[in-house]
Amino acid sequence: MVAPLVGPDGAPPLPWLAAPLQRALHELRGHATLLHGAAGSGLFELAMTLAQGWLCEAPAGQGRPCGRCTSCHLALARTHPDLLVLVPDALRERLGWGGEGDDEPADGEAKPRGKASREIRVEAVRQAIGFAQQSSARGRAKAIVIHPADTMNLVSANALLKTLEEPPGSLRLVLTTASAQALLPTLRSRCQALRLDVPPAADALAWLRGQGVAEPEAQLVAMGGQPLAVLDWLLDGGDAKDWPRLPAMVARDGDTGPLTGWPLPRAIDALLKLCHDAMAVTVGGTPRFYPPGSVPAGASLPALVEWFKALTRASRYDEHPWNAGLLVEALVTQGRRAWSEASLHSRP
Ligand SMILES: [Zn+2]
Repeated sequence: MVAPLVGPDGAPPLPWLAAPLQRALHELRGHATLLHGAAGSGLFELAMTLAQGWLCEAPAGQGRPCGRCTSCHLALARTHPDLLVLVPDALRERLGWGGEGDDEPADGEAKPRGKASREIRVEAVRQAIGFAQQSSARGRAKAIVIHPADTMNLVSANALLKTLEEPPGSLRLVLTTASAQALLPTLRSRCQALRLDVPPAADALAWLRGQGVAEPEAQLVAMGGQPLAVLDWLLDGGDAKDWPRLPAMVARDGDTGPLTGWPLPRAIDALLKLCHDAMAVTVGGTPRFYPPGSVPAGASLPALVEWFKALTRASRYDEHPWNAGLLVEALVTQGRRAWSEASLHSRP
């Protein structure tokens, strides 16, 4: 989605960010911040709001962007000379952050054709370090946003350490991550951490309705309460009608249904959530992601555990050399076995 950084009245781009922004302004003291929490709750938007606030030239802003000064206008237009945003190429378009790479390799090195990179490249980090050493173009401050920071590989993360430790001049950095454990400990320890929780469901539902999502309730549950994840899912071709039908499709028929039409990570995520809920139902609990009653009971717990391992392994591959459709079929077939094996064993 293309979210404005901050409205003309200085309100955060997503209404539920008002409270976390207030907390951040109250608590944050250092020059480096690590925002962690649910990615679909607005990590990037909060990071951008903080950066815009640091650069804001309104006298009474105190870290809150006014939305009206020249600096805020430049940030809103995404042309601020003192703001650098590092995101993987694969995320650029979805975040509305232009198509051309700031992280184009400067040495003319050929970029891999086809798939956009899911990593923040080391060239981009080196460029950020160069940016950090220049003086502020508007004479006030500078800001770097790195989203998500866990997409920096080891070399990139190490290259950044010195800048994080001793940022030149008036530079402030904000890093985001949905999995703080995935970051280098040396990188984590140089930042002040701030957690962003999922918003209250009522706020998330009201906002989703305002975005034109007709009946967002089930979808918000499906996406773990993260409203931006719901919009992403719809952009990826998700359909609210399919979601409650998925458990029975997989458990009874071993049918991939709409899953093969989704991007692979999205299909694996849906199966992981089904496996989680099937485990919960099997031990007498309630499903967390699928509607109550939609997840068939009576699966074999050991088979579910094996399925969970296979799904987790599949979710870790960065690139899949083989046909994604075949992989989804294989995973669905394995899942169905968890139910069919259990019914075989329960026969007299
Ligand atoms: Zn301003």
